[in-house]
Amino acid sequence: MTYTPARPDPRAPAVRINLLSDTQTRPTPAMREAMARAEVGDEQVGDDPSVNVLCDRVADLLGKQAAVFLPSGTMCNVAATLVHCRPGDEILAHASAHIIAREGGAHAALGGFQITALPGADGQFTPDAFRTALHPRTRYQPPQTLVSAEQTANIGGGTIWKRADLDEVVKIAKGHGLATHMDGARLMNACVATGSPARDMAEGWDSAWIDFSKGLGAPIGAVIAGTRDFIDEVWRWKQRLGGSMRQAGICAAACTYTLDHHVERLAEDHANARALARGLAQIAGIEVQQPETNLVFFRPDGAGVSGDAMVGALRQRGVLLAMMDGRIRACTHLDVTAGMVEETVGLVREIVRGA
Ligand SMILES: *Cc1c(COP(=O)(O)O)cnc(C)c1O
Repeated sequence: MTYTPARPDPRAPAVRINLLSDTQTRPTPAMREAMARAEVGDEQVGDDPSVNVLCDRVADLLGKQAAVFLPSGTMCNVAATLVHCRPGDEILAHASAHIIAREGGAHAALGGFQITALPGADGQFTPDAFRTALHPRTRYQPPQTLVSAEQTANIGGGTIWKRADLDEVVKIAKGHGLATHMDGARLMNACVATGSPARDMAEGWDSAWIDFSKGLGAPIGAVIAGTRDFIDEVWRWKQRLGGSMRQAGICAAACTYTLDHHVERLAEDHANARALARGLAQIAGIEVQQPETNLVFFRPDGAGVSGDAMVGALRQRGVLLAMMDGRIRACTHLDVTAGMVEETVGLVREIVRGA
């Protein structure tokens, strides 16, 4: 039995344009310099100054008391649910949420939690759908203890939750005694696209985190923030899960570097995503979801090419992207230029013409 993704096919042409994911960025020379210069210590005992600087910055950015550095966004989600919930508890999240679809069943395997999939367009459930899914506390039903929202909603198309909806979800959750968790893997994309500060977006959310290995472009790392007590408990799970590190300042320095140099530039990724969507939409038969941030979902079937065939034909031309839940996802990032976007549109047009 093998698991996908398989190793890249060594006979395939070299990848010239990598639209697979914003996780594919390589650290820039200046970022590597910041890493090389980083002061380091033993992170596990709280002695790594570069990690401490990063955590203080993110706690402040998200308007929370404290924060902790973890190796991945997935570990942020897992540690958070393990702190917020007890075995048998129910978590509510959108049906396409990363915690349901992309974390290997961690929340069931490690926590014994069940996650209720809420419906809704574009990766977001409405406050009404959330309200409808709540039930009274009885002996028969699982205790509902946590609601989670993705800002931006990945599979939803990189869509941005409106502040009013976030606030309404928080209000309903508090009224029913649920804790609130914001999966902010791409929160900074939402902030740059709307001009809203991260602390406003995360206001009222008991835990929130940002990923540095997505559009921000660092090689490793995510930081989760919350109350001091919450972060204390996250630290225990970090230790249990094997997420406590040593001279992690080398990685934290890259993350801090991105806060100084790679946040405002996310606007370029959004402009490139819009240009890609505009170009694709001009090709007859291609159905494109209008991007709000850096993710472009499209379907070429109407042009007589299946999604898989399009992905394969683009790969043969040096363009890497993939199918995600029945559509093709293209992701713009640090290593994708406007010229690459233009070239990709040209290649898609050529493939459609040859179909
Ligand atoms: C990528 C992602 C995660 C997980 O982050 P990793 O750093 O890849 O573990 C969680 N939630 C969302 C919405 C994501 O896009």
